[in-house]
Amino acid sequence: MTFITSNPDSSQILLATKNKHKVTELTAMLEAASIRVRVASLIDSPGLALPEETGDTMEENAKAKAQAAAKATGLISVADDSGLEVDALEGAPGIHSKRFAGDNATDPDRYGKLLSMLKGVPEEKRQARFRCCIAIAEPDKEPIVVEGICRGKIALSPAGEFGFGYDPVFIPEGMNCTMAQLHMEEKNRISHRFRALAAAMPVLKQLLSVQEK
Ligand code: IMP
Repeated sequence: MTFITSNPDSSQILLATKNKHKVTELTAMLEAASIRVRVASLIDSPGLALPEETGDTMEENAKAKAQAAAKATGLISVADDSGLEVDALEGAPGIHSKRFAGDNATDPDRYGKLLSMLKGVPEEKRQARFRCCIAIAEPDKEPIVVEGICRGKIALSPAGEFGFGYDPVFIPEGMNCTMAQLHMEEKNRISHRFRALAAAMPVLKQLLSVQEK
């Protein structure tokens, strides 16, 4: 694929990720919103280096990645950062969700650590939320940030085999099962990422139509 470095191109946007599921999810949402644009990603250009996630918030991390991608490619660029926030742990693991149990840890290591830290915490004090921040950046402009939240609570023990990450220990609000017991389509309808993407659609529509003028 070719990137341009001037004259922002409104026929394609760049999703600053190598995660195929995120690319599929964004592409589907754009189609559903009748936004005709090609979605490029870092799968097509693995050489494009993004800044490390060193911000204090998911918003800062998403912004830094989107801004760097837009600057490097000249394309409207979209980046996200997400994680799990647990009230009884003052918002942890939050931005550290991925590395909560160390660099080489597995998902069971991560949610196992979380369950140990919440040992003895009663059900009514196990509130948590998944948060997803999405930043949308045009080259040389301050990125726009939207977010999506999925509220719930941390289960007493893991259950379910779908999804990934902390899904086996997260019970979405109003449900009697964990996120990992929901099929992908059901999870996608309530997920923090879906909600953030939905909030991103009008912003992208506006930016792309402005660029077309
Ligand atoms: P990322 O910013 O989307 O890469 O997410 C960072 C980390 O947050 C992941 O490695 C997971 O541990 C956790 N996480 C994010 N989204 C989800 C989700 O939908 N289910 C479970 N865990 C998630």
